[in-house]
Amino acid sequence: MHFTRRQALLTASAAALAGCASASNGAGADQGAALNAFFEDAFEQAIVSSPQLATSLGDRRGYGQWDDPSDAAARAQLDARIASRNEMRRRFNPETLSPGDRLSYRLYDHGVTRSEEGWRWRNHGYIFNHMGGAQSGVPSFLGGWSEEVGVYAFWDARRHTRFSQKSPSLQVHLNTLETAGSVGLATQLRPTAEGEEVVVSVSTGSLLWYLENGVQLHNSQSDATAVADLVDATPEDERAFLDSSKSESQTARRYDLVETMRAFRDAQFRPAVLHAYGYRCAVCNCDLKLVDAAHIVPVSHPSSIDDVTNGIALCRLHHGAFDNALLGFQSSFRIVVNPQTVRRLQEIGLATGIDQFRNQLPELIRVPASIEARPSPQLLRLGLQLRGFPSDLIC
Ligand SMILES: [Zn+2]
Repeated sequence: MHFTRRQALLTASAAALAGCASASNGAGADQGAALNAFFEDAFEQAIVSSPQLATSLGDRRGYGQWDDPSDAAARAQLDARIASRNEMRRRFNPETLSPGDRLSYRLYDHGVTRSEEGWRWRNHGYIFNHMGGAQSGVPSFLGGWSEEVGVYAFWDARRHTRFSQKSPSLQVHLNTLETAGSVGLATQLRPTAEGEEVVVSVSTGSLLWYLENGVQLHNSQSDATAVADLVDATPEDERAFLDSSKSESQTARRYDLVETMRAFRDAQFRPAVLHAYGYRCAVCNCDLKLVDAAHIVPVSHPSSIDDVTNGIALCRLHHGAFDNALLGFQSSFRIVVNPQTVRRLQEIGLATGIDQFRNQLPELIRVPASIEARPSPQLLRLGLQLRGFPSDLIC
């Protein structure tokens, strides 16, 4: 670990402190003078081993030279500091030093010990300061946790890269947090001196989604207020939202917002459906990590919603059969096979195994115990209609 400028200055000020204290304390004067000389040596050693440090302090001895950036050189420098600290511990007893000298002793000891302990973490640093610039290449988040509501709040990190007297505090409304607690996500506009900032609040279940996609929401500007409606929007709602744009740039921004919110609903839909069905296929009860969350009314339809009542957990086989309009579910949860699809498959010679497939189907699908999580009868009927089932089977 390099001897940083701050540490050098700390040493320098420690030496100065030692100097002051020793001058005014007769009993500890010898000890103080010796400690002062010791710090001068340690400081000199640091200057000699780091030409860049020397130059930055106005000492021209290493002018035009670079530090050795190797790990070995950093280790050697740290070892020298450890040896120096151990020597200090051997030669001086802090209890007999004047209060000022004791403070200098402890500051130096603490600085070296911290570097010693920090050595194993030397390659795990994350530069989050404004000048270091690493944050320009990796996403930065600025967030907090509300103990009271149990949700996270995130501010627009780009607006807070430096301290500004104009926005001295980070705030969020309680009702934003509470909405996020109940629906998983909420946004709020917060006036700042540099325009409005979009604050995003998410539940613990939506945290990963936010870190991956949700940062986009900070770009939504005045449309952030539409997020509340887009949380459970149908494709029709999305279309109306896009159509009401007042400029091309607003339309482009709204497309991004619609995409982001689709990803949000998708991220909510899958776990909610799988959880409701106990991670098992509603038809064959298999798990085998082959279970998907299927939409009853397909995503492309204007009435499709990403709610658990429009979902059903199906294994790959039964999901495929459902999507191919071979399989359907009536509002009474009865399982039906589409005779028109079977006929079409027979005509093209791809109906092998249909009898076995049909014979293995139970009479009813297994639905969640909670009534609110069961498929909506209305959506089930629409699902059959959209899959081309004959009208006598749509009920
Ligand atoms: Zn199945």
